[in-house]
Amino acid sequence: MQSHTFSLLTQALNDLQQWKASFGAFSLDETLLVDSYKSAQVFETLTQRLKGNYPFHHPVYAGQMLKSPHEVAWAAYALASSINPNNHALDGGPPSSEMEKEIMPMLADFFGYGDTFLGHLTSSGTIGNLEALWISRKIHPHKKIAFSKNAHYTHGRMCEVLGMDSVTIPINYHGEFEFSTVEPAEIGTLVVTLGTTGLGEVEPLDQALEWAQAHDIRIHIDSAYGGFFRSLKDSDMIDGTSWKLMQEADSIVVDPHKHGLQPYGCGAVLFKDPAVGRFYKHDSPYTYFTSDELHLGEISLECSRAGATAVAFWATLQCFPLKEKEGYGPILAKCRQAALVGFDLISNSEKLTAYKKPELDILTYFPISESTKNVSQISELSRKVFQKGMDDQSFFLSLYKVPAGDFAHFHPDYVADEENVTILRSVLMRPEHADFIRELIRRIESAI
Ligand SMILES: *Cc1c(COP(=O)(O)O)cnc(C)c1O
Repeated sequence: MQSHTFSLLTQALNDLQQWKASFGAFSLDETLLVDSYKSAQVFETLTQRLKGNYPFHHPVYAGQMLKSPHEVAWAAYALASSINPNNHALDGGPPSSEMEKEIMPMLADFFGYGDTFLGHLTSSGTIGNLEALWISRKIHPHKKIAFSKNAHYTHGRMCEVLGMDSVTIPINYHGEFEFSTVEPAEIGTLVVTLGTTGLGEVEPLDQALEWAQAHDIRIHIDSAYGGFFRSLKDSDMIDGTSWKLMQEADSIVVDPHKHGLQPYGCGAVLFKDPAVGRFYKHDSPYTYFTSDELHLGEISLECSRAGATAVAFWATLQCFPLKEKEGYGPILAKCRQAALVGFDLISNSEKLTAYKKPELDILTYFPISESTKNVSQISELSRKVFQKGMDDQSFFLSLYKVPAGDFAHFHPDYVADEENVTILRSVLMRPEHADFIRELIRRIESAI
């Protein structure tokens, strides 16, 4: 943490303490007192145990979709959670609820929805998607949810929760949906993933919209991981085609706790048509009493939600606007650059081969086997390199399983002697990766 943020947090906590004391002195109940020796011991143990984490804060960590939040976010979170407001309803935390109501138009504007929309923060991408699918069921009660095999696994699970049938639409090797395999009349909503969790692939929203609009099918965009890449839609860093069309979709999910610099517990769902609010309406005798406005709790499937989440994201958005040239854009551009540089280095490497060209900031690759051309050899080498990096603490990657058929399509020199191939995967989601990628690839190569 930069000492500046640390002193801001200390100052702010002191300031809040004065506000807390302004209601009159009272002493903490004796049942809540902790022996100072005991708490010191607990914190010592805690610190030791937390060091058992992988270094999510550091660019040597180039594995799963995990990173530490921005310090502004967690300092703001810590500050707010010392009060613990609940964004279920305005009364649960007026300031943090207001902040959530200020955040949502910023997100709506970012995704192109304009002024009329309905949206709120959720505790995760899964819950955001669940809400979007739940609304789909309200609108098309007897129809199915369709998604590709690259969609997040929770969509299938959420369909089960909702008691809905789902159908998987194949994606061909050009990355297009094969709509001819499904009966459009049976489908109520198509989920389009902009930034798949595995490879960071962007499904063709243009193709999906054309098909869906012709058959009166809703479109839900799952951009839990990829959403913030929309900040680069007009740049030459990514193919902006799908990103530029997001406002055409009926609903959108994004996870600020992935690329939005937030601590966990921060997802968001937005609906283009605010009239879907009617499906959320309920009447609870004990929660609403001060406002005639639609409470956040009235447009959310969840009840209690941490007000601190909204406070943290609000504070972050003040420092980092959702723009291409300022705030989020330059951060995402560095991540994307890391993937492009990494891909170049690997393409020229004698020890590594890229599995596919990255579309966003997820790089997949594998060690070249000199002895055989069997895919089982690649799996073995990948696991070895993965383990060696962790043992030496010099790099942290993730493993990724690809069906051998897909693998052989992109790398026809290899023999599919196993059903799946295990390769290496790096989510380069820290802007520091743009510089560190050279060192990272060098370290990986020397571990082979
Ligand atoms: C991460 C992810 C999810 C699930 O979000 P959680 O916040 O982990 O619940 C859903 N869809 C996509 C595309 C994701 O990357």
